[in-house]
Amino acid sequence: MADRSGERLIEWFRRGRRELPWRGPFPRDPYSVLVSEVMAQQTQAQRAAAAYPEFMRRFPSLAVLAAADIGDVLHAFAGLGYYRRARLLHQAAGAIAARGAWPTTAGELALLPGFGPYTAAAVAALAFGGDEPPVDGNVARVTARVLARALPLGSPELLRAGRAFARELHAEAPTPELFEALMELGATVCAPASPRCGACPLLARCAAAAAGTAEAFPLPRARRSRERRRWVAVWLERPDRTVLLHRVDEGPLLLGLWLPPFAELADGEEPVATAHSLARAAGWPVPLAPAPAVRHAITHRDILVLPFAGSAGRARISEEREGWSWQDPGNPSVPSSTMLAKLAVACGQACIEPSLFPSAKE
Ligand code: SF4
Repeated sequence: MADRSGERLIEWFRRGRRELPWRGPFPRDPYSVLVSEVMAQQTQAQRAAAAYPEFMRRFPSLAVLAAADIGDVLHAFAGLGYYRRARLLHQAAGAIAARGAWPTTAGELALLPGFGPYTAAAVAALAFGGDEPPVDGNVARVTARVLARALPLGSPELLRAGRAFARELHAEAPTPELFEALMELGATVCAPASPRCGACPLLARCAAAAAGTAEAFPLPRARRSRERRRWVAVWLERPDRTVLLHRVDEGPLLLGLWLPPFAELADGEEPVATAHSLARAAGWPVPLAPAPAVRHAITHRDILVLPFAGSAGRARISEEREGWSWQDPGNPSVPSSTMLAKLAVACGQACIEPSLFPSAKE
């Protein structure tokens, strides 16, 4: 490339890059790169930046993370969502610790749990000087616009084009900083809507900007249809305002998190009967009252949660059992989900005293 695009990109980056807590000199510590990449996936960088220092304080090294209890790791991810990432991060730390050393190439790193091509390339480039470009959605968008390629976001063709484009720039300015600069450009200047082309170091070679069609690229990602589910949850509250939570031990969703007992409703199943059987299974067959429904989304699923609230006030306060815990819903000491806060609001509106739905017969 003869137009110095790579050099201009690096100069632009050095002048105005965002200060993020993991951005140190190269080569970086691979553990720090991995944690920051996992935290920043599908989360705004500023949110990840706020959570990163505390996570590193609690788990300052790969060895500490590998030896940590998964519950503590999930708890540290509270607020960022995407607990599956936290679980995979913990597994990856265990795999690397067992191996005794970090793999150093993108190909080897891609074999670790939770390492997709992007994370593998990012760790290899930023920590080990690898030249395989990490292509995230930001790089893909910049590529589609500079080349005016009408390809859908997430498509293999756009991924290949993004790698080729990043390689060209990297050949001119061979430093891992180039990859980080390209991602930063997409995150801050070449935004999905209203890109600030006047401030862009790639303006001189951008075909879409020249044609005034930047926002037409890339094409939208092919949409995965959303599933609709209905769940029933049981909110059992003691006079001290603590609520019974159960650790989710099975199923693909919310694994390892602590929530009020819940179950998915099959077609034709009665919410009230399901609520009472959940309360019985929890050991608290108390009268229940319906609370306003709560909407909760998990990846491509839209879940309507039908809560039923009951008072455990007249029942004995039992010893805690493995996998069950009475917790302050506003400040649980176990990892939970934002669904808990939504249920707390909904159940604050419920009539806790027996009303429409008497206790099911034992
Ligand atoms: S010139 Fe505009 S559209 Fe082209 S890469 Fe830069 S910000 Fe994006």
